[in-house]
Amino acid sequence: ADYLRSASTEEPLEQANRLRPGDFSAFTGQRKTVERLQVMARAAKTRGDSLNHVLLSGPPGLGKTTLAHILGSEMGVGVRVISGPVIDKPSDLAGVLTSLEEGEILFIDEIHRIPKTVEEYLYTAIEDFYIDILIDQGPNARTVRLSLPRFCLVGATTRVGLLTAPLRNRFTLQSRLEYYDRKDLLTIAQRSCRLLEMEAETDGLLEIASRARGTPRILNNLILFARDFAQERSEGHLDRKTAAAALEMLEIDNNGLDEMDKRLLRFIAENYRGGPVGLKSLAVGVGEEVQTLEDVHEPFLIQEGYLQRTAQGRMLTAKGWQTIGLPMPEGFQK
Ligand code: ADP
Repeated sequence: ADYLRSASTEEPLEQANRLRPGDFSAFTGQRKTVERLQVMARAAKTRGDSLNHVLLSGPPGLGKTTLAHILGSEMGVGVRVISGPVIDKPSDLAGVLTSLEEGEILFIDEIHRIPKTVEEYLYTAIEDFYIDILIDQGPNARTVRLSLPRFCLVGATTRVGLLTAPLRNRFTLQSRLEYYDRKDLLTIAQRSCRLLEMEAETDGLLEIASRARGTPRILNNLILFARDFAQERSEGHLDRKTAAAALEMLEIDNNGLDEMDKRLLRFIAENYRGGPVGLKSLAVGVGEEVQTLEDVHEPFLIQEGYLQRTAQGRMLTAKGWQTIGLPMPEGFQK
């Protein structure tokens, strides 16, 4: 579904960027992470120091990029954003690092996808602020040491386990973002409506919040669609009924499960009698990329108890069977 695709790629809409909180006070939820970052930022500011390196992990759309920008404005420094897979040679990395200003934040999204040959250069860069670059080849080959400004690396990854230990260990602070609860999502929804100058009943927003998969980016996308829907079908009035009708048009069910989630569950039930099944077979079976299943669908389905991960593969739970309306086979181990 398109609204999910935008959860794993860059913000597609100008409008969505407008909804991004600019400081800690506008950032709802993630109390533990926010508190840690605030302590870190205040201490660094008091000392007149640059920030320590931070690793933020968690599913797409929960606020990692937003927090990097908030840290930047809190510290009064610039934020450079780059995506891990784009840096494919050591010289790409050297180019970025040497162009940073003192104290600046470098945000590397999908940091686990930096090639291994580049990753090693990051070690000295973040630990001691230099890189040794190899120049020339053969008998003329020599290394040149480039010293770097004291910068702050904010790394983002969907799962900490994807990072190599040496890279992971070089982050002073590692913090995991969690899915948002309904209350926090409602607060975010109300803020978004204010910014969009859109009138909505609390009931309507709650309906949307409870089907947003605990993810602010999805929530905002649903709100933007619901706004269009309300304008076309209900004279701009977003109440519970209108919200539910808008969500139905997007084929998002009462639990926030979308077409792909349900296709996944049904595939495991019908083709593997509930599992276990490996991720690759699943991806082929439902026609989705492994990465998207692993980053977007699976964590939500596991967190909500539809699916479980075993050493042999993915398995449906009793709740999973129930949701797709099929009987659990006799003797099924859950
Ligand atoms: P990530 O980097 O984790 O994929 P982003 O930081 O890009 O996620 O967040 C996606 C969008 O969700 C942002 O544009 C912002 O509008 C919204 N958002 C994320 N977290 C919050 C929050 N705590 N409060 C309000 N809006 C949020």
